[in-house]
Amino acid sequence: MKGITILGSTGSIGVSTLDVVARHLDRFRVVALTARSRWELLLAQCIEFKPALAVISDVAAAQSLAAGLREAKCPTEVLVGEAGLETAAILPSADIVMAAIVGAAGLLPTLAAARAGRRVLLANKEALVMAGHLLLDAVASSGAELLPIDSEHNAIFQCLPVGPTGRSTRGVQRIWLTASGGPFLRWPSERLSSVTPQQACAHPRWVMGQKISVDSATLMNKGLELIEASLLFGLPVKAIEVVVHPESTVHSFVQYIDGSTLAQWGHPDMRTPIAHALGFPERIHSGVESLDLLSLGTLHFEAPDRVKFPCLGLAEAAAHSGGTTPAVLNAANEVAVAAFLAGRLNFTSIASVIEDVLERVGMQPLLGLEDVLGADAFARQVAHDRVLVRGSVSP
Ligand code: NAD
Ligand code: MG
Repeated sequence: MKGITILGSTGSIGVSTLDVVARHLDRFRVVALTARSRWELLLAQCIEFKPALAVISDVAAAQSLAAGLREAKCPTEVLVGEAGLETAAILPSADIVMAAIVGAAGLLPTLAAARAGRRVLLANKEALVMAGHLLLDAVASSGAELLPIDSEHNAIFQCLPVGPTGRSTRGVQRIWLTASGGPFLRWPSERLSSVTPQQACAHPRWVMGQKISVDSATLMNKGLELIEASLLFGLPVKAIEVVVHPESTVHSFVQYIDGSTLAQWGHPDMRTPIAHALGFPERIHSGVESLDLLSLGTLHFEAPDRVKFPCLGLAEAAAHSGGTTPAVLNAANEVAVAAFLAGRLNFTSIASVIEDVLERVGMQPLLGLEDVLGADAFARQVAHDRVLVRGSVSP
């Protein structure tokens, strides 16, 4: 029986993870769940899965959660705030930690789980983009395992052979990250400034949290994934290509020097990569049907439009720059996306704010966690200023 902590259990990935876990209660036992503020859903999850610990960031929500647990006679202990997240991440009974908090808030608990030698299922790509080799070094020195949940990276992992320390990229010429293209793939550029948060969050293929949905619409998600792939698989950025594949059934490709191209294929449903990483190296049921090849029809592949979606190029430049620049890119993006979702910034100004911040905040070497946290804090401050300057004219 493996104990599992889910950081961010009330989100899209968290809920999908519990769906898979519920199919395998003979293998997995939920030991801790965490959420920011949605205490009603967290309460229902606690009553169903009976974890030893529940962590919630919001103080008022914590009181409601504790009262609900008492009433239901559920013995789950409640902790509040950031320290609670780290406690959940390193619980001795947690063999597996699903890192599914969105954004920079996931960095410290993910790093804590890596340092504690857990099997870390990495959905929270922002943590890796920010901390880069610090997170990978923590995994290597503690003997932890890092298994990618992002569908593209999980696909690549599945297409790579086993090497002495995980997956090997010997003989790999190139990888292709597939991108759905987002909801505005066919929109003319002139219309993009009038995009509303609701339109940006209505992803054509995947059901996801708001922040990653906006990132998918700007193609920043693919930019973050390019940095993530380069780090996870130790490949230079120039060996990673992005291809738009609107049907979103091929989750990525690996090409070898002998002319072979391998791909992982399936319905766009995150329960497949989640089940893959939970059971690895065994295959377990995910609740997702296999593809019916006879009804798939034609699949399309095209180049991304880097002019219409400048965030992809900004992320590529940040990847080349290295050091703290990916952390700066990530922080600027988080601030700009939050401002867009709050109606304070136009969709097209997201990229402008990020560009402004990258111009103003220089690259520093990334030697320790304090460099990451310092770059993140400074970039957020500059980004808030730039949001005010570029602030929204409503569409
Ligand atoms: P979501 O917004 O649906 O859920 C986020 C979770 O994190 C929630 O449980 C929320 O309570 C928690 N959270 C948010 N802010 C927090 C904070 N400050 N402190 C503590 N907890 C906080 O997001 P999601 O779509 O599930 O995505 C989660 C992560 O997985 C993201 O990094 C995303 O990029 C990645 N990811 C998601 C998908 C997907 O299909 N949803 C696919 C690939 C990767
Ligand atoms: Mg992805």
